[in-house]
Amino acid sequence: MNQSFLILFGAIAAALFAQTSGQLRAPGSSPDDPQPRVVTPGSPGQPPSDAVVLFDGADPAKWTSRDGSPLRWVVKDGAILSTSVHKESGKTQDLVTREKFGAAQIHLEFSIPSMPGMKGQARGNSGVYLQGRYEIQILDSYQNPTYPNGSCAALYGRFAPLVNASRPPEEWQSYDIVFHPPKCVPDGTLAEAGTLTLLHNGVLVQDHVPVTGRTCNAEPGPLLLQDHYHPDAPNTPMKFRNIWLRTLEEVPRGQ
Ligand code: MG
Repeated sequence: MNQSFLILFGAIAAALFAQTSGQLRAPGSSPDDPQPRVVTPGSPGQPPSDAVVLFDGADPAKWTSRDGSPLRWVVKDGAILSTSVHKESGKTQDLVTREKFGAAQIHLEFSIPSMPGMKGQARGNSGVYLQGRYEIQILDSYQNPTYPNGSCAALYGRFAPLVNASRPPEEWQSYDIVFHPPKCVPDGTLAEAGTLTLLHNGVLVQDHVPVTGRTCNAEPGPLLLQDHYHPDAPNTPMKFRNIWLRTLEEVPRGQ
């Protein structure tokens, strides 16, 4: 037998073995394998069928204040508005979900107030905190430079967005988030970093970046909306709408 025949024979034998060996067959190769669970996608602007709807435009019942004080955010025209307080009128009030979450796909829409007289971080500023711990910055970054890892769609203080996909203030914008929390060992040290993937207005801005905190906390946590203090611009509420979340099972690939 010449060498090319031996190579051909080997390839055929390997293919036959792969077809007959269950161990080598990739999961999902047979119609008899478990089928993907059916999820009915939402029509534009609507959540998919298996989402936990956190705010539907009318009812803020899934939310409470971080400090337990009565809710001061208001629902108006299908959106929920931050308190918009300033220095003389009182304290800000962060909003948290009553439910706590681990790995999740999250969708939310926001409208940032127009504050043309302000610059950098002093413009419309908020944030969505995953598990109440990891802030994805919300900032008016439309023609408003600031330090990149504090700009809109940054994992605040860690990773600047890959691109600036911001729309002008007062236009509705969206975040689509895929989040896996860090894994910790029992003594509280990090076993494996979490990950964040983020689309801003449909544009990829965080591509599977590692997520870690000062300490490792594997406990579920709420989604938090920041009520950022705007010292010189009263009556500038941040608006949110169409907030939903799908919990993700932590299933290792190939299982
Ligand atoms: Mg912020």
